[in-house]
Formats: sequence, C-alpha cells, structure tokens
Amino acid sequence: MTVPDVLLNNGTSIPQLGFGVWQVSDDGARDAVAEALRVGYRSIDTARVYENEAGTGRAIAESGLARDEVFLTTKLWNSDQGFDETLRAFDASLGRLGTDYVDLYLIHWPVLEYDRYVDTFKAFQQIRDSGRAKAIGVSNFTVEALRRVIDETGETPAVNQIELHPGLPQDELRAFHAEHGIATEAWSPLGQGESLADPTVTAVAEAHGVTPAQAILRWHLQLGNVVIPKSVTPSRIAENFDVFGFALSDDEVARISAITGSRIGPDPAEFNLR
Ligand code: NAD
Repeated sequence: MTVPDVLLNNGTSIPQLGFGVWQVSDDGARDAVAEALRVGYRSIDTARVYENEAGTGRAIAESGLARDEVFLTTKLWNSDQGFDETLRAFDASLGRLGTDYVDLYLIHWPVLEYDRYVDTFKAFQQIRDSGRAKAIGVSNFTVEALRRVIDETGETPAVNQIELHPGLPQDELRAFHAEHGIATEAWSPLGQGESLADPTVTAVAEAHGVTPAQAILRWHLQLGNVVIPKSVTPSRIAENFDVFGFALSDDEVARISAITGSRIGPDPAEFNLR
C-alpha cells in the first residue's frame, strides 16, 4: 500500500498518513510503534510531553528500517519555550530519541500569554540550519500567531498540527494554510473515538463496506490533511492504515464536513499551561 506524500515548503515530504502516540507509556510506545512500522506506517508523531520519545526511538532503531525510511516528528513543550531553552530542550529530545535528526520539529502550543513563540521559532531556524531538524513547524497556532511568526521571522512554518475531526473542520485555518503553503496536520483525527458513532459517518462507512474510522480517515485524506491516528490495538492499527482501496464521493465528503460539533481539547487562544 502506498501512502501519498505531502510536499512541505522546505522541499521535504511527509507521508499523508502517520501514527500518533499520545497517552501511550514509554514501553507501550515501543510496542505500538513497532507494530505500526511492521504494518507499513512510515511517519511517527511523538512529543516531549508524551514521555515516550525513548520508546518511540527504540522501536524505530529496532525496526530494521533505515533511519531515512521513517519520518519522525517531535514537539517542544511549553515550559521549554525561549531561544536558549529551546536549543537545550531539542538536544535532550534528540538524546531520548537516540537519533541525530528529526524530520519535523513542532512548537507544541503557542502559549500566547507567555509570548515567547517568535524567539522559539528563531531557535527552530538555527536547529534546522544545523541539519538536525529537516523541517520546522508549529502546532495549535491561531491565524494571528501564524501571522506573527511569518512577519517577524520571514519564514512560514512548514506545518500547523491542529485539532481537526468531524464536527471541527477548521475551515478558516485550512484556508489560511492553503494560501500560505502550510501543510495542515490533523490531531485527534478520529475525535479520540467520539466521531465514530456519528450517524453521517456510520452511513457513509456502511455505503462503502468500511469501518467508521476508515471513512473518517478517507475524508481527511481527500481534504488534503495529513493525519496521525492513534491506536495501541494491532487490529485497529492495521485498519487505520487500510484506507487506500476506496474513495468517498464529493457529496459524502461534504456531508462529513457539515457535521456540527465542538473541540475536545483546549482552545489554543486560551491555553497557557507551562
Ligand atoms: P484519535 O482521534 O487518533 O483517536 C484515538 C482513539 O480512537 C484511540 O485511543 C481509540 O480509543 C480510538 N480508535 C482508534 N482507531 C480506532 C478504530 N479503528 N476503531 C475504533 N476506535 C479507534 O486521537 P488522539 O490520539 O488524540 O490523536 C492522534 C494523535 O495526534 C496523538 O496520538 C498525537 O500524536 C497527536 N495529538 C497532538 C496534539 C497536539 O496538541 N499537537 C494533541 C492531541 C493529539
């Protein structure tokens, strides 16, 4: 099964379907990432704050795959923002991951009240220039925060990883991303499982003889989103990867886009945890 690539604004490419490991223990991440790589996933999304960078890195090292066959993302935690703090935190993440580079480094949240994300992104540019992060981006950034990074650093983040699922289609941010060449990466793409019982989703899934999770992932792919569903259950890890043998009609995509709902996670405009 071939996963399409999404070209990033730095010239590298990210697989459109990857695997996330939030809320998985370090040992659990080692097992789940090993299973995901065995199934065929070639993109793994972790973060400092998930406390499973070591297990994730170990699974990649033990997989038998060459390092450059796997796209690895990690994220800077909020308390590590600031220029010098970021440089130190990045070194520590690389150490835990047991690798000498990541494919994508993200600022996990803007923390607007803290107001350090521009300096943090300047440190990201230095890290990228050193070759230890191939691409640099952000997560949970609002349009206003994206504009400030672009205006004050002269560089457009390659990716904005945001909460996006049926009920939260993020039309405004996706339009801004499209206009500026920022890849949209969807976190909690299945709404942490909550979207699976939606009647529109189940009807679309039934029409194609697929599962609700597969219908939702197909919706993301056809919108152009990068997705990183999470599961620790081998059958679901495989199911979530098996989404390239069918396609939704434009009408089905529109029906899923029209589902109303709300955020599951915090509002980035107000989330100031450090
Ligand atoms: P998700 O939408 O991927 O849902 C995961 C949950 O859905 C699983 O725990 C399981 O309960 C259920 N599930 C998964 N596959 C299923 C299937 N085939 N059938 C039935 N149930 C299934 O939620 P998530 O883990 O929150 O998000 C995915 C990834 O996004 C995370 O692991 C993490 O890497 C990333 N993330 C990033 C941020 C951020 O702030 N940047 C925040 C949350 C998550």
